[in-house]
Amino acid sequence: MIPVNTPLLNGNEKKYLNECIDTNWISSEGPFVKRFEDELADYVGREYATACANGTAALDIAVAALELQKGDEVIMPSFTIISCAQALVNRGVTPVLVDSHIDTFNMDVTQIEPLITAKTKAIMVVHIFGLTVDVDAILQLAKKHKLKVIEDAAQMLGQEYKGKKCGGFGDISIFSFYPNKQITTGEGGMVLCDSIALDARTKSLRNLCFSEDRFVHEELGYNYRMTNMQAALGVAQLENITNVVKKKRWIGETYNNLLADIESVVLPIACTDYCDNIYWVYTIMLKDNSQKTAKQVMNELSHYKIGTRPFFYPMHQQPVFNNMGLFSDVTLPNSEKLYKQGFYIPSGLGITLEQIHEVSDVLHKVLS
Ligand SMILES: *Cc1c(COP(=O)(O)O)cnc(C)c1O
Repeated sequence: MIPVNTPLLNGNEKKYLNECIDTNWISSEGPFVKRFEDELADYVGREYATACANGTAALDIAVAALELQKGDEVIMPSFTIISCAQALVNRGVTPVLVDSHIDTFNMDVTQIEPLITAKTKAIMVVHIFGLTVDVDAILQLAKKHKLKVIEDAAQMLGQEYKGKKCGGFGDISIFSFYPNKQITTGEGGMVLCDSIALDARTKSLRNLCFSEDRFVHEELGYNYRMTNMQAALGVAQLENITNVVKKKRWIGETYNNLLADIESVVLPIACTDYCDNIYWVYTIMLKDNSQKTAKQVMNELSHYKIGTRPFFYPMHQQPVFNNMGLFSDVTLPNSEKLYKQGFYIPSGLGITLEQIHEVSDVLHKVLS
């Protein structure tokens, strides 16, 4: 089986983990946590960082830190992971959804302004699969309408928008360190910002909103702390980020060359006016006239022992939200089409050239 993702742990991971055990520092109080925060903030070009349990937790913290509350509206893409929408819904905030571009998979920024109302408080930017959102257009809108911006850069560590690192935009940004992300801590996340006050809120929310008077609480938070062991992995992984970015792009370009002759599919675009694809995952879109659905193709590929994943199921069609009365009259044709016709193939950092060739051979068999 060639799995859809294999992580790469080939640096100082073992050494730093041993340090945790040798020094007895395994909890969130250990020194790697602050070191990981500082080094990630430096890399991204942000002032402050808060390590936390995972990317979903990071989004929960970001939404709470910005004091978004019941009745507020936040504009975000429908084509994303549920973590983005549930961070809002869990606090009574209403997600207002826009469609995505069919070729970049990213939110169509031209759909945002008509949706802005007196209740709109923020825009959530989510970079999808390898190319960035057109961030400047969003920052301009946010300035004009006095809106906050949350940047979900979970898939984009090392990626740049117009030469500036992703995760460095808007009021607050987040990363995930799940094993399929550019760097992994097994489970883990980070919240970043440039405001000392927002950073204090973020760190308080991560740690149950303990106050000066321990066990006296002014607000409800979360226990979303990261352990020293996770942070030790993170520090080791981040040391390798330059190679990671290079390898991601090499995987993408190698597939681009090998698969270019398959006529029934659309391959990812290599660049836009403002970024080069980082190929967080390598995506395949079946053409409109395809005889097969993505589901059928993924099934056939699994018979040849090739791992795949479907694209996101759009937020406006999620039963859990529809049952709450959300999005019942929303149709976003591109998001729906992306789910039906898209999937991604093995493209994790551990993949070998031999495996890429094998995946390509099978794809030629199944799709030609
Ligand atoms: C992975 C991911 C998350 C969630 O991160 P977890 O660490 O899995 O909770 C959030 N947003 C995006 C865009 C992601 O890709």
